[in-house]
Amino acid sequence: MNKVCAVFGGSRGIGRAVAQLMAQKGYRLAIIARNLEVAKATASDLGGDHLAFKCDVAKEHDVQNTFEEIEKNLGPVNFLVNTAGINRDSLLVRTKTEDMLSQLHTNLLGSMLTCKAAVKTMIQQQRGSIVNVGSIIGLKGNAGQCVYSASKGGLVGFSRALAKEVARKKIRVNVVAPGFVHTDMTKSLKEEHLKKNIPLGRFGEPIDVAHAVVFLLESPYITGHVLVVDGGLQLIM
Ligand code: NDP
Repeated sequence: MNKVCAVFGGSRGIGRAVAQLMAQKGYRLAIIARNLEVAKATASDLGGDHLAFKCDVAKEHDVQNTFEEIEKNLGPVNFLVNTAGINRDSLLVRTKTEDMLSQLHTNLLGSMLTCKAAVKTMIQQQRGSIVNVGSIIGLKGNAGQCVYSASKGGLVGFSRALAKEVARKKIRVNVVAPGFVHTDMTKSLKEEHLKKNIPLGRFGEPIDVAHAVVFLLESPYITGHVLVVDGGLQLIM
């Protein structure tokens, strides 16, 4: 069976850990990011038959081209993981409109565009599995992260609606919502202070989230689900 998985945002952080785990399980990976050199390095570290692609998920033309290139070089995509994401944290009254738009375009519109392109291919194959990476902040909200929260909360609504839309075509759509995870995105945070509030007492590692992503990708009877991976943080939020 052809097992081609596109990981948007697969060059670093959580996406990179997902790609590593899936490569070990025999999938052919498309590693996609804006910085092609970093994506190529990640694809080459995986060993085997994996390829890197340059794409800004916020640009429809880029997304369409990327799916065409993946299909030409690896075959049709039947597994999709959306980890491409950014944050521009600030209080709402100080947030510039351009920073609102960049978060919404990357975190929400970007996943809509990749899902739209993937679902077209998956409908033809009558199978497919999608995991969108949201955030605990999208479920609980957080001061200083209104727009990021909206982008990730929107992703949950979008994913659940899409899950209903495509279930009859044997396509599943799920969300993983991480808490704090050690990646470039969180390196400026005050970890010592924040981890006191995490019941399991530590930040997550990318591999902690990757296991949840791969679990949902491969679980044949789960769709429209939001799996929180946060060391228990939601218990106290
Ligand atoms: P990183 O910053 O480590 O990695 C982000 C990845 O997304 C990189 O591969 C980056 O590559 C890619 N990316 C960013 N913008 C775009 C774009 N416009 N088009 C294509 N690729 C893009 O982030 P994390 O691994 O920490 O985060 C992964 C996801 O998990 C994000 O959606 C984030 O919101 C979410 N998350 C992270 C948490 C954390 O604590 N780390 C907690 C909760 C959720 P490049 O820059 O080259 O494009």
